[in-house]
Amino acid sequence: MRVYLDNAATTPLDKEVFDAMAPFMLEHFGNPSSIHSHGREVRSAIEKARRTVATLLNTSPAEIFFTSGGTEADNAAIRCTCRAYGIKHAISTKLEHHAVLHTMDLLEKEEGVQVSYLRHDEYGNLDLEHLEELLANQPRTMVSIMHANNEIGNLNNIEAIGEICRKYDAVFHSDTVQTMGHYKHDIQALGANFLVGSAHKFHGPKGVGFLYCDANIKIQPLIQGGAQERNMRGGTENVYGIIGLAKALEIAYRDMEEHAKHIQGLKDRMIYKLREQMEDVSFNGLSEFGDKSLYTVLNVSLPASDINEMLLFSLDINKISASGGSACSSGANAGSHVLRALNASSDRGSVRFSFSKYNTEAEIDYAAEVLSKMYKKELA
Ligand code: PLP
Repeated sequence: MRVYLDNAATTPLDKEVFDAMAPFMLEHFGNPSSIHSHGREVRSAIEKARRTVATLLNTSPAEIFFTSGGTEADNAAIRCTCRAYGIKHAISTKLEHHAVLHTMDLLEKEEGVQVSYLRHDEYGNLDLEHLEELLANQPRTMVSIMHANNEIGNLNNIEAIGEICRKYDAVFHSDTVQTMGHYKHDIQALGANFLVGSAHKFHGPKGVGFLYCDANIKIQPLIQGGAQERNMRGGTENVYGIIGLAKALEIAYRDMEEHAKHIQGLKDRMIYKLREQMEDVSFNGLSEFGDKSLYTVLNVSLPASDINEMLLFSLDINKISASGGSACSSGANAGSHVLRALNASSDRGSVRFSFSKYNTEAEIDYAAEVLSKMYKKELA
């Protein structure tokens, strides 16, 4: 058995999505900027895809911009907003993805933006009173706080964060890469100024994503070039990627309830099996709590052992693909900045299992058994 439990890194492409994309690789190859019929048919497919995404998220197509993925969308939202409004104060968390953290570092170094990081406890619960303190008596601030953490799965209350941001007239960007396609986002109700999506996290193709940009926020493009994406992103569109993204999101919304139930069941089973078979197993962040973490992610904290160093390698030898990173900051695997920020013990091993609609109970049972046998030294 070969088991893929790294769906927070990327998900397999859905066949239905591939079928929607294929004609745009072979038959409908025109450049959407061309005015002839070959171009026009593709332009109209892109605009249909945009309407699909906008409708699912309860917003207007004019506020959806296709990008090369989540990283570009995060960069564009944060950097272009600070530039457009001359913002010199930003607030984020040390638990963000590098797409946000490294952007913050750059703003600090090159654009004189002062970046404040929210306090959190050892589970990663954010201190929203601190957010208010940081926002009070400040000129307009850029706030970037993710919806769900890709490593430990913690879900943040972005409705509450959005409300605080509105109270202080801050611009609010939320990295929604891990929740898009897994939870329903109602942009009208949310009140965030920017959200992002990345198709390969919800069974779409790699290298394509989107940025929702509130029409009240006026930014200049991150990528200069042609007039594509209504002058917001130069470069010929990734046509089949965009078609695939919209189809994948449509399927995700259509089948969400059924898949969420199935995947949550797998995660609960993994927690149960690990507790049953292993001593001293625990879970990083809030990942064991159903309502406080992604149903797709379980971050397991393992006892101190000499096998921790080779943990992912040993899983791989046993045909299990997962990912992780300890709290240790040295060595070839520089470890996890998220676990370090939580002050997780660097002696313990950590592995992130992340699940999709394609995983089965048999795969979960196999992975739990392999892991427990590894710690009992019954397996390589
Ligand atoms: N933000 C989060 C939370 C992610 O998990 C990822 C991908 O791992 C990204 C951003 C980057 O997305 P992409 O791979 O589309 O650039």
